[in-house]
Amino acid sequence: MPPDSALPIQDTRTNLVGLSREALKAALVEKGEKPFRAKQVWHWIYHRGATEFAAMTDLSKDLRRTLENHFVVSRPTIAREQTSSDSTRKWLMQFADGQKAEAVFIPDEDRGAVCISSQVGCTLTCRFCHTGTQRLVRNLTPAEIVGQFMVARDSYGEWPTPTDERRLLSNIVMMGMGEPLYNFENVATALKIIMADDGIALGKRRITLSTSGVVPEIHRCGAELGVNLAVSLHAPDDETRSQIMPINKKYPLKELMQACRDYPVASNARRITFEYVMLKDINDTPAHARALIKLVKDIPCKFNLIPFNPWPGTPYECSDEATVESFSAMLRDGGYSAPVRTPRGRDILAACGQLKTDSERLSAKEQRIRAEQEAQIAQKAWAEKEATL
Ligand code: SAH
Ligand code: SF4
Repeated sequence: MPPDSALPIQDTRTNLVGLSREALKAALVEKGEKPFRAKQVWHWIYHRGATEFAAMTDLSKDLRRTLENHFVVSRPTIAREQTSSDSTRKWLMQFADGQKAEAVFIPDEDRGAVCISSQVGCTLTCRFCHTGTQRLVRNLTPAEIVGQFMVARDSYGEWPTPTDERRLLSNIVMMGMGEPLYNFENVATALKIIMADDGIALGKRRITLSTSGVVPEIHRCGAELGVNLAVSLHAPDDETRSQIMPINKKYPLKELMQACRDYPVASNARRITFEYVMLKDINDTPAHARALIKLVKDIPCKFNLIPFNPWPGTPYECSDEATVESFSAMLRDGGYSAPVRTPRGRDILAACGQLKTDSERLSAKEQRIRAEQEAQIAQKAWAEKEATL
Protein backbone atom coordinates (compact mmCIF):
# COMPACT_ATOMS: atom_id res chain seq x y z
CA MET A 1 0.00 0.00 0.00
CA PRO A 2 1.43 3.45 -0.83
CA PRO A 3 2.28 5.56 2.25
CA ASP A 4 -0.41 7.96 3.38
CA SER A 5 0.90 11.38 2.37
CA ALA A 6 -1.06 13.03 5.21
CA LEU A 7 1.06 11.31 7.86
CA PRO A 8 4.27 13.03 8.97
CA ILE A 9 7.35 11.20 7.77
CA GLN A 10 9.05 9.66 10.77
CA ASP A 11 12.67 10.61 11.24
CA THR A 12 14.52 7.33 11.61
CA ARG A 13 17.92 8.94 12.10
CA THR A 14 19.65 8.23 15.43
CA ASN A 15 19.76 11.03 18.00
CA LEU A 16 23.35 11.47 19.15
CA VAL A 17 22.25 13.27 22.32
CA GLY A 18 22.09 10.84 25.22
CA LEU A 19 24.56 8.32 23.82
CA SER A 20 27.42 7.57 26.20
CA ARG A 21 30.84 8.51 24.87
CA GLU A 22 31.49 4.86 23.91
CA ALA A 23 28.11 4.52 22.21
CA LEU A 24 28.67 7.74 20.26
CA LYS A 25 32.03 6.45 19.07
CA ALA A 26 30.51 3.11 18.06
CA ALA A 27 27.69 4.85 16.16
CA LEU A 28 30.17 6.89 14.11
CA VAL A 29 32.50 3.94 13.48
CA GLU A 30 29.56 1.89 12.27
CA LYS A 31 29.00 4.52 9.59
CA GLY A 32 32.64 4.29 8.53
CA GLU A 33 33.99 7.28 10.46
CA LYS A 34 37.27 7.43 12.37
CA PRO A 35 36.84 6.99 16.16
CA PHE A 36 38.56 10.33 16.94
CA ARG A 37 35.72 12.17 15.22
CA ALA A 38 33.57 11.28 18.21
CA LYS A 39 35.59 13.67 20.38
CA GLN A 40 34.96 16.54 17.99
CA VAL A 41 31.27 15.81 17.67
CA TRP A 42 30.92 15.45 21.45
CA HIS A 43 32.57 18.85 21.91
CA TRP A 44 30.16 20.46 19.46
CA ILE A 45 27.11 18.92 21.08
CA TYR A 46 27.92 19.33 24.76
CA HIS A 47 30.41 22.19 24.92
CA ARG A 48 29.17 24.39 22.12
CA GLY A 49 25.52 23.38 22.22
CA ALA A 50 25.31 22.83 18.45
CA THR A 51 21.96 21.55 17.24
CA GLU A 52 22.93 20.83 13.64
CA PHE A 53 25.89 19.32 11.87
CA ALA A 54 26.17 22.32 9.54
CA ALA A 55 27.47 24.34 12.50
CA MET A 56 30.34 21.91 13.14
CA THR A 57 32.77 23.91 11.04
CA ASP A 58 35.94 21.99 11.80
CA LEU A 59 34.50 18.90 10.14
CA SER A 60 34.74 18.58 6.36
CA LYS A 61 31.63 19.32 4.35
CA ASP A 62 31.48 15.68 3.24
CA LEU A 63 31.60 14.43 6.79
CA ARG A 64 28.91 16.87 7.89
CA ARG A 65 26.69 15.64 5.09
CA THR A 66 27.28 11.99 6.00
CA LEU A 67 26.48 12.71 9.62
CA GLU A 68 23.32 14.52 8.66
CA ASN A 69 22.17 11.56 6.62
CA HIS A 70 22.41 9.22 9.58
CA PHE A 71 22.05 11.26 12.73
CA VAL A 72 20.33 14.16 14.45
CA VAL A 73 21.22 16.28 17.48
CA SER A 74 17.83 16.86 18.98
CA ARG A 75 16.28 18.11 22.19
CA PRO A 76 12.80 17.86 23.63
CA THR A 77 10.59 20.61 22.26
CA ILE A 78 9.06 23.24 24.54
CA ALA A 79 5.29 22.82 24.72
CA ARG A 80 5.01 25.69 27.20
CA GLU A 81 7.38 28.02 29.01
CA GLN A 82 6.29 30.04 32.05
CA THR A 83 8.24 32.46 34.19
CA SER A 84 7.08 33.10 37.76
CA SER A 85 6.91 36.50 39.42
CA ASP A 86 9.95 35.34 41.44
CA SER A 87 11.85 34.52 38.20
CA THR A 88 11.51 30.75 38.53
CA ARG A 89 11.07 29.36 35.04
CA LYS A 90 9.20 26.19 34.17
CA TRP A 91 9.20 24.32 30.89
CA LEU A 92 6.71 21.72 29.82
CA MET A 93 8.85 19.59 27.57
CA GLN A 94 7.47 17.36 24.89
CA PHE A 95 9.28 14.27 23.70
CA ALA A 96 9.24 12.59 20.29
CA ASP A 97 6.32 10.30 21.22
CA GLY A 98 4.22 13.20 22.48
CA GLN A 99 4.73 12.46 26.19
CA LYS A 100 5.53 15.42 28.40
CA ALA A 101 7.44 16.20 31.59
CA GLU A 102 8.38 19.37 33.40
CA ALA A 103 11.71 20.96 34.27
CA VAL A 104 12.19 24.04 36.41
CA PHE A 105 14.99 26.59 36.82
CA ILE A 106 15.24 28.13 40.27
CA PRO A 107 17.54 31.14 40.09
CA ASP A 108 19.53 32.43 43.02
CA GLU A 109 21.50 35.66 43.06
CA ASP A 110 24.22 34.75 40.60
CA ARG A 111 23.62 31.02 40.14
CA GLY A 112 20.78 28.56 40.24
CA ALA A 113 19.55 24.99 40.07
CA VAL A 114 17.76 23.21 37.27
CA CYS A 115 15.25 20.70 38.59
CA ILE A 116 14.97 17.77 36.22
CA SER A 117 12.42 14.98 35.81
CA SER A 118 13.38 11.32 35.54
CA GLN A 119 10.02 9.76 34.65
CA VAL A 120 6.69 10.73 33.15
CA GLY A 121 4.47 10.22 36.20
CA CYS A 122 5.65 8.04 39.09
CA THR A 123 5.02 4.50 40.30
CA LEU A 124 4.97 5.67 43.89
CA THR A 125 2.08 7.22 45.70
CA CYS A 126 3.37 9.64 48.27
CA ARG A 127 0.16 11.11 49.58
CA PHE A 128 1.28 14.75 49.59
CA CYS A 129 2.67 14.74 46.05
CA HIS A 130 0.80 15.85 42.97
CA THR A 131 2.98 13.73 40.68
CA GLY A 132 2.02 10.75 42.85
CA THR A 133 -1.55 10.96 41.61
CA GLN A 134 -0.37 10.42 38.07
CA ARG A 135 0.33 6.92 36.83
CA LEU A 136 3.79 6.03 35.66
CA VAL A 137 3.67 6.51 31.93
CA ARG A 138 7.26 5.63 31.24
CA ASN A 139 10.88 6.15 32.16
CA LEU A 140 12.67 9.01 30.47
CA THR A 141 15.59 8.08 28.22
CA PRO A 142 19.11 9.46 28.74
CA ALA A 143 18.51 11.80 25.77
CA GLU A 144 15.36 13.14 27.39
CA ILE A 145 17.06 13.66 30.75
CA VAL A 146 20.17 15.40 29.35
CA GLY A 147 17.88 17.17 26.87
CA GLN A 148 15.99 18.92 29.68
CA PHE A 149 19.21 20.54 30.88
CA MET A 150 20.23 21.45 27.32
CA VAL A 151 16.88 23.13 26.69
CA ALA A 152 17.33 25.12 29.90
CA ARG A 153 20.76 26.22 28.69
CA ASP A 154 19.31 27.16 25.30
CA SER A 155 16.71 29.25 27.07
CA TYR A 156 19.36 31.24 28.97
CA GLY A 157 21.87 31.29 26.09
CA GLU A 158 24.42 29.46 28.21
CA TRP A 159 26.54 28.01 25.42
CA PRO A 160 29.40 27.39 25.00
CA THR A 161 29.85 25.92 28.47
CA PRO A 162 30.76 28.88 30.69
CA THR A 163 33.46 28.73 33.33
CA ASP A 164 32.22 27.85 36.80
CA GLU A 165 32.20 31.46 37.97
CA ARG A 166 30.04 32.59 35.07
CA ARG A 167 27.43 29.85 35.20
CA LEU A 168 23.88 30.85 35.96
CA LEU A 169 22.68 27.26 35.56
CA SER A 170 25.22 26.05 38.10
CA ASN A 171 23.50 23.09 39.76
CA ILE A 172 21.18 20.22 39.00
CA VAL A 173 18.66 18.65 41.32
CA MET A 174 17.02 15.40 40.25
CA MET A 175 13.84 16.45 42.04
CA GLY A 176 11.34 16.79 39.23
CA MET A 177 8.72 14.24 38.30
CA GLY A 178 9.40 10.60 39.08
CA GLU A 179 11.66 8.49 41.23
CA PRO A 180 15.19 8.65 39.76
CA LEU A 181 16.35 5.43 41.42
CA TYR A 182 13.58 3.49 39.67
CA ASN A 183 15.19 4.62 36.40
CA PHE A 184 18.77 4.33 37.53
CA GLU A 185 20.46 3.18 34.30
CA ASN A 186 19.10 6.05 32.23
CA VAL A 187 19.67 8.62 34.97
CA ALA A 188 23.25 7.37 35.38
CA THR A 189 24.01 7.55 31.64
CA ALA A 190 22.56 11.06 31.52
CA LEU A 191 24.43 12.33 34.58
CA LYS A 192 27.73 10.88 33.34
CA ILE A 193 27.26 12.86 30.12
CA ILE A 194 26.44 15.99 32.09
CA MET A 195 29.50 15.54 34.32
CA ALA A 196 32.01 14.89 31.51
CA ASP A 197 34.82 17.50 31.59
CA ASP A 198 34.89 18.24 27.89
CA GLY A 199 31.18 19.00 27.58
CA ILE A 200 28.56 20.35 29.97
CA ALA A 201 31.12 19.74 32.70
CA LEU A 202 28.96 20.07 35.77
CA GLY A 203 30.81 18.59 38.76
CA LYS A 204 29.34 15.82 40.92
CA ARG A 205 29.28 18.17 43.90
CA ARG A 206 26.84 20.37 41.99
CA ILE A 207 24.37 17.57 41.36
CA THR A 208 21.89 16.28 43.93
CA LEU A 209 19.71 13.24 43.44
CA SER A 210 16.59 13.00 45.54
CA THR A 211 15.05 9.64 46.33
CA SER A 212 11.99 8.59 48.23
CA GLY A 213 14.16 5.80 49.65
CA VAL A 214 14.78 3.06 47.09
CA VAL A 215 17.25 1.36 49.40
CA PRO A 216 18.85 -1.20 47.01
CA GLU A 217 19.95 1.50 44.55
CA ILE A 218 21.30 4.06 47.01
CA HIS A 219 24.79 2.59 47.30
CA ARG A 220 25.24 2.40 43.52
CA CYS A 221 24.23 6.01 43.20
CA GLY A 222 27.13 7.06 45.42
CA ALA A 223 29.63 4.54 44.10
CA GLU A 224 28.96 5.04 40.37
CA LEU A 225 28.01 8.69 40.24
CA GLY A 226 29.33 10.24 43.45
CA VAL A 227 26.58 12.86 43.44
CA ASN A 228 25.02 14.40 46.53
CA LEU A 229 22.15 12.46 48.03
CA ALA A 230 18.86 13.88 49.24
CA VAL A 231 16.35 11.58 50.91
CA SER A 232 12.67 12.37 51.22
CA LEU A 233 12.33 11.45 54.86
CA HIS A 234 9.18 13.29 55.92
CA ALA A 235 8.60 11.29 59.12
CA PRO A 236 10.72 9.93 61.98
CA ASP A 237 8.81 6.68 62.60
CA ASP A 238 7.60 3.84 60.40
CA GLU A 239 3.96 4.29 61.27
CA THR A 240 3.74 7.92 60.16
CA ARG A 241 6.05 7.42 57.20
CA SER A 242 4.17 4.39 55.86
CA GLN A 243 0.96 6.35 56.10
CA ILE A 244 2.22 9.16 53.87
CA MET A 245 4.85 7.26 51.85
CA PRO A 246 3.77 3.70 51.07
CA ILE A 247 7.31 2.84 49.84
CA ASN A 248 8.24 2.79 53.53
CA LYS A 249 6.42 -0.54 53.86
CA LYS A 250 8.88 -2.02 51.37
CA TYR A 251 12.01 -0.26 52.66
CA PRO A 252 11.43 0.74 56.28
CA LEU A 253 13.41 3.37 58.15
CA LYS A 254 15.96 1.01 59.69
CA GLU A 255 17.12 -0.09 56.23
CA LEU A 256 16.93 3.41 54.83
CA MET A 257 19.03 4.86 57.64
CA GLN A 258 21.61 2.11 57.23
CA ALA A 259 21.84 2.87 53.48
CA CYS A 260 22.45 6.51 54.40
CA ARG A 261 25.16 5.56 56.91
CA ASP A 262 26.81 3.52 54.16
CA TYR A 263 26.47 6.14 51.41
CA PRO A 264 29.91 6.13 49.77
CA VAL A 265 30.49 9.86 49.31
CA ALA A 266 28.83 11.27 52.43
CA SER A 267 31.06 13.12 54.87
CA ASN A 268 30.84 16.15 57.12
CA ALA A 269 31.84 18.22 54.11
CA ARG A 270 29.21 16.55 51.91
CA ARG A 271 26.21 15.88 54.05
CA ILE A 272 23.12 13.93 53.08
CA THR A 273 20.08 16.18 52.89
CA PHE A 274 16.94 14.93 54.60
CA GLU A 275 13.97 16.59 52.98
CA TYR A 276 11.03 17.03 55.31
CA VAL A 277 7.70 18.30 54.07
CA MET A 278 5.82 20.14 56.82
CA LEU A 279 2.31 18.69 57.04
CA LYS A 280 -0.06 20.18 59.55
CA ASP A 281 -0.89 17.78 62.41
CA ILE A 282 0.80 14.87 60.64
CA ASN A 283 4.56 15.13 61.18
CA ASP A 284 5.18 18.54 62.72
CA THR A 285 5.09 18.22 66.53
CA PRO A 286 8.02 18.67 68.95
CA ALA A 287 7.91 14.91 69.56
CA HIS A 288 8.51 14.36 65.83
CA ALA A 289 11.47 16.73 65.92
CA ARG A 290 12.99 14.93 68.93
CA ALA A 291 12.48 11.55 67.26
CA LEU A 292 14.16 12.83 64.11
CA ILE A 293 17.27 13.89 65.98
CA LYS A 294 17.51 10.40 67.47
CA LEU A 295 16.87 8.72 64.14
CA VAL A 296 19.67 10.40 62.20
CA LYS A 297 22.33 10.06 64.89
CA ASP A 298 25.75 9.27 63.38
CA ILE A 299 24.72 10.25 59.86
CA PRO A 300 26.51 13.28 58.38
CA CYS A 301 23.39 15.14 57.41
CA LYS A 302 21.37 18.31 57.30
CA PHE A 303 17.65 18.91 57.02
CA ASN A 304 15.70 20.84 54.47
CA LEU A 305 12.23 21.72 55.70
CA ILE A 306 9.79 22.12 52.84
CA PRO A 307 6.53 23.96 53.49
CA PHE A 308 3.85 21.75 51.96
CA ASN A 309 2.82 23.08 48.56
CA PRO A 310 -0.87 22.54 48.00
CA TRP A 311 -2.37 21.30 44.76
CA PRO A 312 -5.96 20.79 43.61
CA GLY A 313 -7.66 18.02 45.56
CA THR A 314 -4.98 17.48 48.20
CA PRO A 315 -6.13 16.32 51.64
CA TYR A 316 -3.20 18.09 53.41
CA GLU A 317 -2.40 21.53 54.72
CA CYS A 318 0.93 23.15 55.39
CA SER A 319 1.98 23.53 59.04
CA ASP A 320 1.68 27.07 60.46
CA GLU A 321 4.64 29.32 60.06
CA ALA A 322 5.29 29.37 63.80
CA THR A 323 5.23 25.57 63.95
CA VAL A 324 7.69 25.32 61.07
CA GLU A 325 9.96 27.85 62.77
CA SER A 326 9.99 26.06 66.11
CA PHE A 327 10.50 22.69 64.39
CA SER A 328 13.50 24.17 62.60
CA ALA A 329 14.82 25.65 65.86
CA MET A 330 14.58 22.29 67.64
CA LEU A 331 16.60 20.59 64.93
CA ARG A 332 19.15 23.40 65.05
CA ASP A 333 19.41 23.03 68.82
CA GLY A 334 19.98 19.33 68.22
CA GLY A 335 23.03 20.27 66.15
CA TYR A 336 21.60 20.07 62.64
CA SER A 337 21.28 22.69 59.98
CA ALA A 338 17.56 22.88 59.15
CA PRO A 339 16.69 25.79 56.86
CA VAL A 340 13.15 26.22 55.65
CA ARG A 341 13.03 26.02 51.87
CA THR A 342 11.38 29.12 50.46
CA PRO A 343 8.71 27.96 48.05
CA ARG A 344 9.57 29.11 44.53
CA GLY A 345 7.37 29.41 41.49
CA ARG A 346 4.11 28.60 43.30
CA ASP A 347 2.17 30.91 40.97
CA ILE A 348 3.07 28.71 38.01
CA LEU A 349 2.77 25.40 39.92
CA ALA A 350 6.53 24.90 39.73
CA ALA A 351 7.19 24.31 43.44
CA CYS A 352 8.15 20.94 44.95
CA GLY A 353 5.50 18.32 44.45
CA GLN A 354 3.32 20.50 42.24
CA LEU A 355 4.55 19.16 38.93
CA LYS A 356 2.09 17.24 36.91
CA THR A 357 1.61 17.22 33.17
CA ASP A 358 -1.59 17.62 31.17
CA SER A 359 -2.56 20.57 33.35
CA GLU A 360 -4.53 23.38 31.80
CA ARG A 361 -5.74 26.81 32.85
CA LEU A 362 -9.23 26.72 34.36
CA SER A 363 -11.73 29.25 35.73
CA ALA A 364 -12.36 29.38 39.51
CA LYS A 365 -15.51 27.28 39.20
CA GLU A 366 -13.82 24.81 36.89
CA GLN A 367 -10.93 24.65 39.36
CA ARG A 368 -13.32 23.72 42.21
CA ILE A 369 -14.95 21.01 40.15
CA ARG A 370 -11.54 19.80 39.00
CA ALA A 371 -10.29 19.74 42.60
CA GLU A 372 -13.15 17.46 43.64
CA GLN A 373 -12.58 15.23 40.66
CA GLU A 374 -8.83 15.15 41.30
CA ALA A 375 -9.37 14.14 44.93
CA GLN A 376 -11.45 11.19 43.77
CA ILE A 377 -8.98 10.30 41.03
CA ALA A 378 -6.12 10.53 43.53
CA GLN A 379 -7.87 8.14 45.92
CA LYS A 380 -8.48 5.67 43.13
CA ALA A 381 -4.97 5.99 41.68
CA TRP A 382 -3.38 5.50 45.10
CA ALA A 383 -5.47 2.44 45.78
CA GLU A 384 -4.63 0.89 42.42
CA LYS A 385 -0.92 1.70 42.51
CA GLU A 386 -0.59 0.50 46.06
CA ALA A 387 -2.02 -2.85 45.12
CA THR A 388 1.07 -3.35 42.95
CA LEU A 389 3.65 -2.03 45.43
N1 SAH B 1 10.79 11.30 43.64
C1 SAH B 1 11.86 11.92 44.30
C2 SAH B 1 12.20 13.30 43.77
C3 SAH B 1 11.07 14.21 43.38
S1 SAH B 1 10.13 15.04 44.57
C4 SAH B 1 11.59 11.99 45.78
O1 SAH B 1 10.48 11.70 46.19
O2 SAH B 1 12.51 12.31 46.52
C5 SAH B 1 11.12 16.35 45.25
C6 SAH B 1 10.78 16.65 46.72
O3 SAH B 1 9.51 17.32 46.84
C7 SAH B 1 10.66 15.40 47.54
O4 SAH B 1 11.29 15.56 48.79
C8 SAH B 1 9.17 15.26 47.74
O5 SAH B 1 8.85 14.48 48.83
C9 SAH B 1 8.77 16.71 47.90
N2 SAH B 1 7.34 16.95 47.70
C10 SAH B 1 6.44 16.18 47.03
N3 SAH B 1 5.21 16.76 47.08
C11 SAH B 1 5.34 17.91 47.77
C12 SAH B 1 4.44 18.95 48.12
N4 SAH B 1 3.17 18.92 47.74
N5 SAH B 1 4.91 19.99 48.84
C13 SAH B 1 6.22 20.05 49.19
N6 SAH B 1 7.13 19.10 48.87
C14 SAH B 1 6.70 18.03 48.17
FE1 SF4 C 1 7.04 9.98 43.23
FE2 SF4 C 1 8.75 11.57 44.61
FE3 SF4 C 1 6.18 12.28 44.26
FE4 SF4 C 1 6.79 10.27 45.88
S1 SF4 C 1 7.37 12.43 46.15
S2 SF4 C 1 5.12 10.26 44.37
S3 SF4 C 1 8.50 9.34 44.81
S4 SF4 C 1 7.71 12.02 42.67
